[in-house]
Amino acid sequence: MSDHIKTMGQQFGRRSWAEPWKIKMVEPLTMTTREQRQRAIEEAGYNTFLLRSQDVYIDLLTDSGTSAMSDRQWAGMMLGDEAYAGSANFYRLEAAVQEYYGYRYVVPTHQGRGAEHLISKVEIKQGDVIAGNMYFTTTRVHQELAGGRFVDVIIDEAHDPTSLHPFKGNVDLDKLQRLIDEVGADKMPYVSIAGTVNMAGGQPISMANIRDVQALCHKHGIKVYLDATRMAENAFFIQEREEGYAHKSVREILKEFCSYTDGAWMSAKKDSLVNIGGWLAVNDANVFDKARNLVVIYEGLHTYGGMAGRDMEALAIGIEESVQDDHQRARIGQVRYLGELLNEWGIPIVQPIGGHAVFLDAKRFYPHIPQNEFPAQTLAAELYLDSGIRGMERGIVSAGRDPQTGDHRYPALELVRLTIPRRVYTQAHMDVTAEAVKAVYDQREATRGLQMVYEPEYLRFFQARFARL
Ligand SMILES: *Cc1c(COP(=O)(O)O)cnc(C)c1O
Repeated sequence: MSDHIKTMGQQFGRRSWAEPWKIKMVEPLTMTTREQRQRAIEEAGYNTFLLRSQDVYIDLLTDSGTSAMSDRQWAGMMLGDEAYAGSANFYRLEAAVQEYYGYRYVVPTHQGRGAEHLISKVEIKQGDVIAGNMYFTTTRVHQELAGGRFVDVIIDEAHDPTSLHPFKGNVDLDKLQRLIDEVGADKMPYVSIAGTVNMAGGQPISMANIRDVQALCHKHGIKVYLDATRMAENAFFIQEREEGYAHKSVREILKEFCSYTDGAWMSAKKDSLVNIGGWLAVNDANVFDKARNLVVIYEGLHTYGGMAGRDMEALAIGIEESVQDDHQRARIGQVRYLGELLNEWGIPIVQPIGGHAVFLDAKRFYPHIPQNEFPAQTLAAELYLDSGIRGMERGIVSAGRDPQTGDHRYPALELVRLTIPRRVYTQAHMDVTAEAVKAVYDQREATRGLQMVYEPEYLRFFQARFARL
């Protein structure tokens, strides 16, 4: 652990980190009364995704597309080359992906799920099995729609919110080997690796683990693809926690990690500090050819993929900013500041504190609410009611139904994610947030669960509606 962070929160001899930027422009926030919030959450069917942002004070729904761009990125927006074909900004983006992630071929997409769609269509056949270090919502649904079945091979510690394992995003190699033995390598086109693992609480995967995953997969002719959405943040954890990496930069670690994989998809709305954008990158010319052909059907021409030229310019600059050590130290330091306050006050959160968010453990928060009465959905609604802070359910609602049986999936983790946008909120916002969580915690025994009154077929957490029991 770096000295800056180790001393955080100590009263004496304290040496704080601070953000490596200052504020040039501000965006006023709306303050609301409890009566207004009561009306708003009822209208939203107790689903924070259905709230209007005008009714939200501190918006911790997601870190996706919500980060603040730098003055350099905004200046880059003015350099947009909006040519339909061959935009100069695409070539800047392509060069940045090649330089910082190290892959050979780049296909731009409008955001991450666009890239997931393309790679799933190219690589997956009906009846295939995709192993991965815990599912992600959009990733898995594209794998399933392409005919695949997702199997979780993450280490058991990832499902235990109290485990202090430093790399809870690691793949369990025995589980992976057993799966290969059971279904056969010919049914497994690739293994789907994410860094950091969102659904486990923003937990990193180690360099040693990806090396072992690559060795095992390549022995069986299975590819390794990376969900690189928060891989720059993962690189910071490797620098901090893994032997041999303390003196390597985030930039070097990121590139080394990617070198053990055959390609990646990216939601640039996270690590890369832009409001919209994504890409798919691979090393195999044949896969590239197919993906580049599909992109013109689903996204746009292969030199813009659904992004404007100016978006690609901002993204190219954002990639460079995202791999700066000082940036990651402040970004992850802020998340940790919030988490450590909640720890001090005895509020149950996922340990260790992850990269992009603090995850409240709704099962321990509301032990009296059974999982099919949606404890995490309830907690997110209560937090909004208390103070206008918006978080997101990551539990039974997000897990959806098993396509085979039609039943709810019952995930071990029932969480509310307080996701911190990059470079947006101050330490005082983190204090206010922690105090609001404490107030809701103090009221926990009087809180009852919810029932679902409307359920969409796909990715139900986005649009489902609830009512109080
Ligand atoms: C957000 C996200 C995606 C999907 O990307 P979008 O840009 O939202 O389409 C995929 N994987 C992970 C890990 C994500 O966080």
